[in-house]
Amino acid sequence: MPAVEIVEVAARDGLQNENSVVSTAAKLELIDRAIRAGARRLEVTSFVNPARVPQMADAEAVVAGLPRRDDVTYIALVLNRRGAERALASGVDELGAVCVASDTFGIRNQGQTAAESLAVACETVALARAAGRAAQITIATAFGCPFEGEVPIDRVVEMAKRAADAQPREVALADTIGVAVPAQVTEAVTLVAEAIAPLPVRAHFHDTRNTAIANVWAAIGAGARVIDAALGGLGGCPFAPGASGNVATEDVLYLLDRSGIATGYDRTLAIDTASWLTGLIGRDLSGKVRCAPPFPPAHGEAGPRG
Ligand code: ZN
Repeated sequence: MPAVEIVEVAARDGLQNENSVVSTAAKLELIDRAIRAGARRLEVTSFVNPARVPQMADAEAVVAGLPRRDDVTYIALVLNRRGAERALASGVDELGAVCVASDTFGIRNQGQTAAESLAVACETVALARAAGRAAQITIATAFGCPFEGEVPIDRVVEMAKRAADAQPREVALADTIGVAVPAQVTEAVTLVAEAIAPLPVRAHFHDTRNTAIANVWAAIGAGARVIDAALGGLGGCPFAPGASGNVATEDVLYLLDRSGIATGYDRTLAIDTASWLTGLIGRDLSGKVRCAPPFPPAHGEAGPRG
């Protein structure tokens, strides 16, 4: 099997839904620990309205404090031109633009219809490219909308084609509210991969209904080579009712390591960081592997049975 790249999103998608604001220093420690565990591409912040998302009010300070490394790419999420300009001025490596497959969700989440959000995402890619920076486009609510229900696959494929015309680095399909199931993921990733080739497909799953890890496996089987994940399974979306955490990085590492798919991560360090993160957040997180004994066990040791 080919290698899979994991984009570590704990510092942005993971933290965004936390009510208590995490300090810039703690965010930078999270990012530093993730890099030490093997992350080489990380979503670190978003340049959005601080009145709407206070957790991301320190976006400039986070980017200014990042360790400068040639082998690590830092991504900032942006939702409009103002955000894109702030992100480019900050010096961040890559802009993540978001369009929304559902009009209702788009209007509630970012004040844009689906078509408007796609136009802004394409404009963001153009701004980044003009500045010599990378950019990618994520299609949010690609597998279902909390208000409209099922999202037609044809609409998602059409949006992906138009997004690809802007020449982003990749196009991502995001299960923003955690409703996707593997058969749906297989169909969507297959069709979108065909539609946008040779651009890669990235996949982003939330574990709201316990299907995220199965969806990761389906996405990889259908040709996705980049997967978003958050240490500990941190995350949610403040504008998506009931949406819970991202698929946990360490759970994805367990799945892939034991399946013979290289990721470049050290799973033990990732688990240590997820444990540290639960302490930082002050509550339990949804990732499973962190709570289980190591497997395979160290020689002569047996974990608890039950
Ligand atoms: Zn998300």
